[in-house]
Amino acid sequence: MKSFSKVPKKSIDISSNGFAEKSTDVITGYRLLFSKKSFLIDDVISDFHWTNIYDNPNYLTVQIGENQHIELLPTHLECANHSCDPNAFFDITIKQLVCIKPIKEGEEITFFYPSAEWDMDRPFDCSCKSLFCVGRIEGAKYLTKEQLTRYRFTDFIQQKLAEDKR
Ligand SMILES: [Zn+2]
Repeated sequence: MKSFSKVPKKSIDISSNGFAEKSTDVITGYRLLFSKKSFLIDDVISDFHWTNIYDNPNYLTVQIGENQHIELLPTHLECANHSCDPNAFFDITIKQLVCIKPIKEGEEITFFYPSAEWDMDRPFDCSCKSLFCVGRIEGAKYLTKEQLTRYRFTDFIQQKLAEDKR
């Protein structure tokens, strides 16, 4: 009997804390970050921090400055996937993951990768199916003026955008 649920199956390897847990979709193999609580706009989902700063980005790092890339702690935050209609934002300045769209318990926590990445190490084609899907995700540097108006960006990206003078 075949039954493929659209709800991602939780793997055995679940790292969990008060607000969210990581799980693996057994069909696609993708890791996801799920909320264990409901959040409203401006709620703090989690504090985060980092210990090392790397010169070069990789697909798990978040940019905090020119040639400055961090690995998020707690580490399960790195499972947060991209969406062009995100419900969370990594505010690097205050080191908090903030809710920007109401999140229900059990919902996936997503953020807009270019909100924190200027020129991505590993661009990809998005298939989030949101109304305003950007398509190719390669960093804030490549967004159109119109796309830029829809999102919140880290202080570093805002600084880069100001210098970019588009
Ligand atoms: Zn998209």
